[in-house]
Amino acid sequence: MLNEIMFVAVVTVFCNKCGNNKVKKIGLSPQGKQRYLCKNQECKKSFILDYTNNETLKK
Ligand SMILES: [Zn+2]
Repeated sequence: MLNEIMFVAVVTVFCNKCGNNKVKKIGLSPQGKQRYLCKNQECKKSFILDYTNNETLKK
């Protein structure tokens, strides 16, 4: 089970390719992480917001 607390906080997500903050959620990765799609028509990168380096839910 995922720890839902980590998704409660509202965070501004920036595309890690172009820096655009207009991204939309497109579901979860196979690892259960939130995936995003950049709305920049010249970018359209899909990525996973990986800010969980410090958390130790999984080993
Ligand atoms: Zn982008």
